[in-house]
Amino acid sequence: MLENYLVVNIDKIRENIINIKNESGSLFCAVVKANAYGLGSVEISQNIEDIVDYFAVARLQEALKLRKNNITKPILVLGYVGIDDIKLCHDYNIDITIYDLDFAKEINNLDYKVNCHLALDTGHSRLGFREFEIDKINKLKYLKNLNIIAAFSHFSTADEEDTNYTDEQYKVFNQMLDAIDLNFDFVHISNSAGAIKHHIYKNMIRVGLAMYGLYPSDVVKKDTTIKLSRSFNLYSTVSFVKKIKKGTGVSYGRTFIADKDMEIATVTIGYADGYLRSFSNVGEVYINGKPCRVLGRVCMDQIMVDVSGLDVKIGDRVEIYKDIDLEASKASTISYELMTNISLRVNRIYIRNGKELNTHIDLGEIYES
Ligand SMILES: *Cc1c(COP(=O)(O)O)cnc(C)c1O
Repeated sequence: MLENYLVVNIDKIRENIINIKNESGSLFCAVVKANAYGLGSVEISQNIEDIVDYFAVARLQEALKLRKNNITKPILVLGYVGIDDIKLCHDYNIDITIYDLDFAKEINNLDYKVNCHLALDTGHSRLGFREFEIDKINKLKYLKNLNIIAAFSHFSTADEEDTNYTDEQYKVFNQMLDAIDLNFDFVHISNSAGAIKHHIYKNMIRVGLAMYGLYPSDVVKKDTTIKLSRSFNLYSTVSFVKKIKKGTGVSYGRTFIADKDMEIATVTIGYADGYLRSFSNVGEVYINGKPCRVLGRVCMDQIMVDVSGLDVKIGDRVEIYKDIDLEASKASTISYELMTNISLRVNRIYIRNGKELNTHIDLGEIYES
Protein backbone atom coordinates (compact mmCIF):
# COMPACT_ATOMS: atom_id res chain seq x y z
CA MET A 1 0.00 0.00 0.00
CA LEU A 2 1.38 3.36 -1.05
CA GLU A 3 0.32 6.31 1.10
CA ASN A 4 1.22 8.85 -1.57
CA TYR A 5 1.40 8.24 -5.28
CA LEU A 6 1.47 10.16 -8.49
CA VAL A 7 -0.38 8.54 -11.37
CA VAL A 8 1.07 9.57 -14.73
CA ASN A 9 -1.01 8.67 -17.76
CA ILE A 10 1.39 8.45 -20.69
CA ASP A 11 -1.48 7.81 -23.09
CA LYS A 12 -2.65 11.36 -22.36
CA ILE A 13 0.84 12.79 -22.83
CA ARG A 14 0.99 11.09 -26.23
CA GLU A 15 -2.45 12.44 -27.12
CA ASN A 16 -1.34 16.00 -26.22
CA ILE A 17 1.83 15.67 -28.28
CA ILE A 18 -0.07 14.38 -31.31
CA ASN A 19 -2.69 17.16 -31.07
CA ILE A 20 -0.02 19.86 -30.83
CA LYS A 21 2.03 18.32 -33.65
CA ASN A 22 -0.99 18.07 -35.92
CA GLU A 23 -1.58 21.77 -35.51
CA SER A 24 2.06 22.95 -35.69
CA GLY A 25 3.27 20.73 -38.51
CA SER A 26 6.75 21.32 -37.10
CA LEU A 27 9.35 19.18 -35.42
CA PHE A 28 8.58 18.54 -31.75
CA CYS A 29 11.14 18.91 -29.00
CA ALA A 30 9.85 17.38 -25.76
CA VAL A 31 11.03 19.40 -22.75
CA VAL A 32 11.74 16.80 -20.05
CA LYS A 33 13.94 18.90 -17.77
CA ALA A 34 13.58 18.60 -13.98
CA ASN A 35 12.66 14.91 -14.23
CA ALA A 36 9.93 15.77 -16.78
CA TYR A 37 8.47 18.44 -14.50
CA GLY A 38 8.53 15.93 -11.67
CA LEU A 39 6.58 13.24 -13.50
CA GLY A 40 9.59 11.02 -14.42
CA SER A 41 11.84 11.75 -17.38
CA VAL A 42 13.05 8.21 -18.12
CA GLU A 43 9.64 6.52 -18.20
CA ILE A 44 8.06 9.37 -20.15
CA SER A 45 10.91 9.80 -22.65
CA GLN A 46 11.07 6.06 -23.35
CA ASN A 47 7.34 6.03 -24.02
CA ILE A 48 7.19 9.08 -26.30
CA GLU A 49 10.47 8.76 -28.18
CA ASP A 50 8.72 7.31 -31.24
CA ILE A 51 6.55 10.43 -31.72
CA VAL A 52 8.98 13.25 -30.86
CA ASP A 53 12.03 14.58 -32.70
CA TYR A 54 14.15 16.02 -29.91
CA PHE A 55 14.47 16.14 -26.15
CA ALA A 56 15.50 19.17 -24.11
CA VAL A 57 16.76 19.21 -20.53
CA ALA A 58 18.31 21.86 -18.31
CA ARG A 59 21.37 20.03 -16.99
CA LEU A 60 23.92 17.69 -18.51
CA GLN A 61 23.19 15.21 -15.70
CA GLU A 62 19.59 14.97 -16.93
CA ALA A 63 20.75 14.32 -20.48
CA LEU A 64 23.16 11.59 -19.37
CA LYS A 65 20.40 9.88 -17.42
CA LEU A 66 18.34 9.67 -20.62
CA ARG A 67 21.26 8.33 -22.66
CA LYS A 68 21.99 5.72 -19.97
CA ASN A 69 18.37 4.63 -20.28
CA ASN A 70 18.63 4.03 -24.02
CA ILE A 71 17.20 7.27 -25.38
CA THR A 72 18.82 7.74 -28.80
CA LYS A 73 17.05 10.81 -30.24
CA PRO A 74 18.94 14.13 -30.04
CA ILE A 75 19.09 15.74 -26.60
CA LEU A 76 19.77 19.44 -26.06
CA VAL A 77 21.00 20.86 -22.77
CA LEU A 78 19.31 24.27 -22.59
CA GLY A 79 21.52 25.52 -19.76
CA TYR A 80 25.17 25.82 -18.82
CA VAL A 81 27.65 22.99 -19.30
CA GLY A 82 31.07 23.45 -17.73
CA ILE A 83 34.23 23.16 -19.80
CA ASP A 84 35.25 19.94 -17.99
CA ASP A 85 32.09 18.22 -19.18
CA ILE A 86 32.35 18.95 -22.91
CA LYS A 87 34.05 15.59 -23.51
CA LEU A 88 30.99 13.87 -22.02
CA CYS A 89 28.75 15.80 -24.42
CA HIS A 90 30.92 14.58 -27.27
CA ASP A 91 31.01 10.97 -26.00
CA TYR A 92 27.26 10.77 -25.37
CA ASN A 93 26.23 12.87 -28.38
CA ILE A 94 24.52 15.57 -26.37
CA ASP A 95 23.86 19.00 -27.90
CA ILE A 96 24.97 22.07 -26.00
CA THR A 97 23.85 25.70 -25.92
CA ILE A 98 26.33 28.38 -27.06
CA TYR A 99 25.98 32.01 -25.95
CA ASP A 100 29.47 33.39 -25.36
CA LEU A 101 32.29 33.73 -27.90
CA ASP A 102 35.20 33.35 -25.48
CA PHE A 103 33.66 30.25 -23.93
CA ALA A 104 32.98 28.89 -27.41
CA LYS A 105 36.70 29.32 -28.23
CA GLU A 106 37.66 27.43 -25.08
CA ILE A 107 35.36 24.60 -26.11
CA ASN A 108 36.84 24.64 -29.61
CA ASN A 109 40.36 24.29 -28.20
CA LEU A 110 39.46 21.00 -26.51
CA ASP A 111 39.32 19.19 -29.85
CA TYR A 112 36.09 17.31 -29.19
CA LYS A 113 33.47 17.91 -31.83
CA VAL A 114 30.08 18.86 -30.32
CA ASN A 115 26.67 19.75 -31.72
CA CYS A 116 25.70 23.27 -30.74
CA HIS A 117 22.52 25.33 -30.62
CA LEU A 118 23.11 29.06 -30.70
CA ALA A 119 21.06 30.86 -28.04
CA LEU A 120 19.84 34.30 -29.09
CA ASP A 121 18.65 36.67 -26.37
CA THR A 122 15.69 38.50 -27.88
CA GLY A 123 14.53 40.03 -24.61
CA HIS A 124 14.36 37.39 -21.89
CA SER A 125 17.83 38.37 -20.63
CA ARG A 126 18.80 34.90 -19.45
CA LEU A 127 21.24 33.18 -21.84
CA GLY A 128 22.04 34.19 -25.40
CA PHE A 129 23.90 36.49 -27.75
CA ARG A 130 22.24 39.86 -28.06
CA GLU A 131 21.31 41.93 -31.12
CA PHE A 132 24.54 43.95 -31.09
CA GLU A 133 26.71 40.82 -31.07
CA ILE A 134 26.17 39.68 -34.65
CA ASP A 135 29.88 40.14 -35.38
CA LYS A 136 30.75 37.77 -32.54
CA ILE A 137 28.20 35.23 -33.74
CA ASN A 138 29.63 35.33 -37.24
CA LYS A 139 33.06 34.41 -35.85
CA LEU A 140 31.70 31.12 -34.54
CA LYS A 141 31.85 29.59 -37.99
CA TYR A 142 35.65 29.50 -37.76
CA LEU A 143 35.50 27.26 -34.69
CA LYS A 144 35.79 23.88 -36.38
CA ASN A 145 34.89 21.72 -33.38
CA LEU A 146 31.59 23.52 -32.91
CA ASN A 147 29.04 21.94 -35.16
CA ILE A 148 26.41 24.68 -35.06
CA ILE A 149 23.18 23.05 -36.12
CA ALA A 150 20.55 25.32 -34.62
CA ALA A 151 19.58 28.79 -33.44
CA PHE A 152 16.97 29.41 -30.80
CA SER A 153 15.47 31.97 -28.48
CA HIS A 154 12.97 32.00 -25.62
CA PHE A 155 9.83 34.05 -24.98
CA SER A 156 9.27 35.80 -21.67
CA THR A 157 5.60 36.80 -21.88
CA ALA A 158 4.01 34.43 -24.40
CA ASP A 159 1.46 33.30 -21.78
CA GLU A 160 0.12 36.83 -21.19
CA GLU A 161 -2.84 38.69 -22.69
CA ASP A 162 -0.72 41.48 -24.21
CA THR A 163 1.04 40.11 -27.29
CA ASN A 164 3.25 43.14 -28.00
CA TYR A 165 6.40 41.91 -26.30
CA THR A 166 6.14 38.46 -27.88
CA ASP A 167 5.73 40.09 -31.31
CA GLU A 168 8.77 42.26 -30.56
CA GLN A 169 10.90 39.28 -29.50
CA TYR A 170 9.87 37.37 -32.61
CA LYS A 171 10.81 40.34 -34.79
CA VAL A 172 14.23 40.62 -33.16
CA PHE A 173 14.73 36.86 -33.59
CA ASN A 174 14.00 37.04 -37.33
CA GLN A 175 16.25 40.10 -37.77
CA MET A 176 19.09 38.33 -36.02
CA LEU A 177 18.60 35.17 -38.10
CA ASP A 178 18.78 37.30 -41.28
CA ALA A 179 22.00 38.95 -40.14
CA ILE A 180 23.75 35.73 -39.10
CA ASP A 181 25.99 34.17 -41.70
CA LEU A 182 25.39 30.53 -40.74
CA ASN A 183 22.94 27.84 -41.85
CA PHE A 184 20.82 26.02 -39.33
CA ASP A 185 19.07 22.66 -39.48
CA PHE A 186 16.83 23.65 -36.58
CA VAL A 187 15.33 27.00 -35.65
CA HIS A 188 13.19 27.15 -32.52
CA ILE A 189 11.71 29.81 -30.27
CA SER A 190 8.31 28.67 -28.99
CA ASN A 191 7.58 27.16 -25.62
CA SER A 192 4.07 25.81 -24.93
CA ALA A 193 2.48 29.27 -24.95
CA GLY A 194 4.32 30.40 -28.08
CA ALA A 195 3.15 27.30 -29.90
CA ILE A 196 -0.45 26.87 -28.78
CA LYS A 197 -1.42 30.52 -28.28
CA HIS A 198 0.73 32.40 -30.81
CA HIS A 199 1.08 29.65 -33.41
CA ILE A 200 4.76 30.47 -33.86
CA TYR A 201 6.57 27.31 -34.91
CA LYS A 202 9.67 27.94 -37.07
CA ASN A 203 10.75 24.36 -37.80
CA MET A 204 10.71 23.11 -34.20
CA ILE A 205 8.79 23.87 -31.02
CA ARG A 206 9.97 23.18 -27.46
CA VAL A 207 7.01 22.04 -25.44
CA GLY A 208 6.95 21.20 -21.76
CA LEU A 209 3.85 22.00 -19.72
CA ALA A 210 1.30 21.57 -22.52
CA MET A 211 2.63 18.10 -23.24
CA TYR A 212 1.79 17.15 -19.63
CA GLY A 213 -1.69 18.51 -20.23
CA LEU A 214 -1.71 21.85 -18.43
CA TYR A 215 -2.09 25.34 -19.88
CA PRO A 216 0.70 27.80 -19.00
CA SER A 217 -1.93 30.37 -17.93
CA ASP A 218 -5.68 31.06 -18.02
CA VAL A 219 -5.09 33.40 -20.96
CA VAL A 220 -3.50 30.59 -22.98
CA LYS A 221 -6.37 28.28 -22.04
CA LYS A 222 -8.89 30.88 -23.26
CA ASP A 223 -7.04 31.72 -26.49
CA THR A 224 -5.88 28.34 -27.76
CA THR A 225 -7.85 25.93 -29.93
CA ILE A 226 -5.84 22.99 -28.58
CA LYS A 227 -7.67 20.81 -26.10
CA LEU A 228 -5.17 19.45 -23.60
CA SER A 229 -5.77 16.49 -21.39
CA ARG A 230 -4.19 16.52 -17.93
CA SER A 231 -1.85 13.57 -17.59
CA PHE A 232 -1.24 13.28 -13.86
CA ASN A 233 -2.92 13.17 -10.47
CA LEU A 234 -1.39 13.18 -7.01
CA TYR A 235 -3.05 11.09 -4.32
CA SER A 236 -2.62 10.71 -0.59
CA THR A 237 -4.39 8.80 2.19
CA VAL A 238 -6.46 9.56 5.28
CA SER A 239 -4.60 8.19 8.30
CA PHE A 240 -6.95 9.28 11.09
CA VAL A 241 -10.34 10.92 11.64
CA LYS A 242 -11.59 12.54 14.86
CA LYS A 243 -13.97 15.08 16.37
CA ILE A 244 -12.45 18.13 18.05
CA LYS A 245 -14.07 20.69 20.35
CA LYS A 246 -14.41 24.41 19.69
CA GLY A 247 -11.19 26.09 20.88
CA THR A 248 -8.87 23.21 19.97
CA GLY A 249 -5.62 24.24 18.27
CA VAL A 250 -4.47 22.33 15.19
CA SER A 251 -0.84 21.75 14.17
CA TYR A 252 2.39 23.61 14.91
CA GLY A 253 2.07 27.15 16.18
CA ARG A 254 -1.71 26.76 16.75
CA THR A 255 -2.35 28.98 13.72
CA PHE A 256 -5.79 27.36 13.45
CA ILE A 257 -8.14 27.23 16.45
CA ALA A 258 -11.49 25.49 15.92
CA ASP A 259 -14.25 28.12 16.05
CA LYS A 260 -16.85 25.37 16.53
CA ASP A 261 -16.94 21.65 17.23
CA MET A 262 -15.67 19.95 14.09
CA GLU A 263 -14.43 16.75 12.56
CA ILE A 264 -10.91 16.65 11.15
CA ALA A 265 -8.86 14.13 9.19
CA THR A 266 -5.10 13.65 9.21
CA VAL A 267 -3.63 13.02 5.74
CA THR A 268 -0.27 11.40 4.92
CA ILE A 269 1.31 14.18 2.88
CA GLY A 270 3.56 17.03 3.93
CA TYR A 271 6.15 19.44 2.67
CA ALA A 272 8.76 16.67 2.40
CA ASP A 273 6.52 15.12 -0.25
CA GLY A 274 6.35 18.47 -2.06
CA TYR A 275 3.10 19.72 -0.57
CA LEU A 276 4.28 23.25 0.13
CA ARG A 277 4.22 24.65 3.62
CA SER A 278 2.61 27.73 2.10
CA PHE A 279 -0.59 25.69 1.77
CA SER A 280 -0.96 26.08 5.54
CA ASN A 281 -4.56 27.24 6.24
CA VAL A 282 -5.23 27.88 2.51
CA GLY A 283 -4.82 24.62 0.57
CA GLU A 284 -7.75 22.45 -0.37
CA VAL A 285 -7.72 18.69 -1.01
CA TYR A 286 -10.57 16.43 -2.13
CA ILE A 287 -11.78 13.38 -0.25
CA ASN A 288 -14.51 11.25 -1.85
CA GLY A 289 -15.09 14.10 -4.31
CA LYS A 290 -15.62 16.75 -1.59
CA PRO A 291 -13.35 19.77 -0.93
CA CYS A 292 -11.58 19.80 2.46
CA ARG A 293 -9.49 22.77 3.53
CA VAL A 294 -6.12 22.49 5.22
CA LEU A 295 -6.30 23.39 8.90
CA GLY A 296 -3.19 24.93 10.46
CA ARG A 297 0.36 24.41 9.30
CA VAL A 298 1.49 21.81 6.80
CA CYS A 299 3.90 19.49 8.65
CA MET A 300 6.84 17.64 7.11
CA ASP A 301 4.86 14.43 6.53
CA GLN A 302 1.23 15.16 7.38
CA ILE A 303 -1.59 17.67 7.17
CA MET A 304 -4.92 18.04 8.96
CA VAL A 305 -8.02 18.91 6.95
CA ASP A 306 -11.63 19.80 7.71
CA VAL A 307 -14.01 16.90 7.07
CA SER A 308 -16.94 18.18 9.15
CA GLY A 309 -20.20 16.72 7.90
CA LEU A 310 -18.46 14.38 5.45
CA ASP A 311 -18.33 10.62 5.53
CA VAL A 312 -14.57 10.05 5.76
CA LYS A 313 -12.71 7.10 7.25
CA ILE A 314 -9.14 5.84 7.75
CA GLY A 315 -7.65 4.62 4.46
CA ASP A 316 -9.75 6.88 2.19
CA ARG A 317 -8.01 8.27 -0.88
CA VAL A 318 -7.24 11.99 -1.01
CA GLU A 319 -6.82 13.91 -4.26
CA ILE A 320 -4.27 16.65 -3.75
CA TYR A 321 -4.39 19.09 -6.68
CA LYS A 322 -7.86 18.85 -8.18
CA ASP A 323 -7.58 22.35 -9.68
CA ILE A 324 -3.81 22.73 -9.73
CA ASP A 325 -3.83 26.29 -11.12
CA LEU A 326 -6.18 27.46 -8.38
CA GLU A 327 -4.08 25.76 -5.68
CA ALA A 328 -0.90 27.26 -7.17
CA SER A 329 -2.36 30.75 -7.01
CA LYS A 330 -3.20 30.27 -3.30
CA ALA A 331 0.49 29.59 -2.65
CA SER A 332 1.56 32.51 -4.92
CA THR A 333 3.12 30.13 -7.41
CA ILE A 334 2.44 28.31 -10.68
CA SER A 335 1.62 24.73 -11.59
CA TYR A 336 5.20 24.25 -12.85
CA GLU A 337 6.54 24.73 -9.34
CA LEU A 338 3.98 22.46 -7.68
CA MET A 339 4.79 19.70 -10.18
CA THR A 340 8.56 19.95 -9.87
CA ASN A 341 8.30 19.93 -6.08
CA ILE A 342 6.62 16.53 -5.86
CA SER A 343 9.45 14.74 -4.11
CA LEU A 344 11.00 11.37 -4.86
CA ARG A 345 9.39 9.97 -1.72
CA VAL A 346 6.14 9.95 -3.72
CA ASN A 347 5.90 6.83 -5.88
CA ARG A 348 5.11 7.27 -9.56
CA ILE A 349 2.71 4.91 -11.29
CA TYR A 350 2.63 4.99 -15.09
CA ILE A 351 -0.27 4.16 -17.37
CA ARG A 352 0.42 3.16 -20.98
CA ASN A 353 -2.16 1.65 -23.33
CA GLY A 354 -4.62 1.80 -20.46
CA LYS A 355 -2.48 -0.47 -18.29
CA GLU A 356 -0.07 0.10 -15.43
CA LEU A 357 3.64 0.03 -16.25
CA ASN A 358 6.18 -0.83 -13.53
CA THR A 359 3.41 -2.19 -11.35
CA HIS A 360 5.90 -3.79 -9.05
CA ILE A 361 6.88 -1.17 -6.51
CA ASP A 362 9.20 -2.52 -3.89
CA LEU A 363 8.83 -0.47 -0.74
CA GLY A 364 12.45 -1.32 0.03
CA GLU A 365 13.78 0.59 -2.94
CA ILE A 366 12.99 4.03 -1.63
CA TYR A 367 14.07 7.31 -3.21
CA GLU A 368 15.18 5.56 -6.35
CA SER A 369 15.15 8.18 -9.08
C1 LIG B 1 11.34 25.17 -19.76
C2 LIG B 1 11.61 25.67 -21.13
C3 LIG B 1 10.72 25.40 -22.18
C4 LIG B 1 9.37 24.74 -21.98
O1 LIG B 1 8.46 25.67 -21.44
P1 LIG B 1 6.91 25.29 -21.28
O2 LIG B 1 6.27 26.56 -20.89
O3 LIG B 1 6.84 24.26 -20.20
O4 LIG B 1 6.46 24.77 -22.60
C5 LIG B 1 11.12 25.74 -23.46
N1 LIG B 1 12.30 26.36 -23.68
C6 LIG B 1 13.15 26.67 -22.69
C7 LIG B 1 14.42 27.38 -23.01
C8 LIG B 1 12.83 26.36 -21.38
O5 LIG B 1 13.67 26.69 -20.39
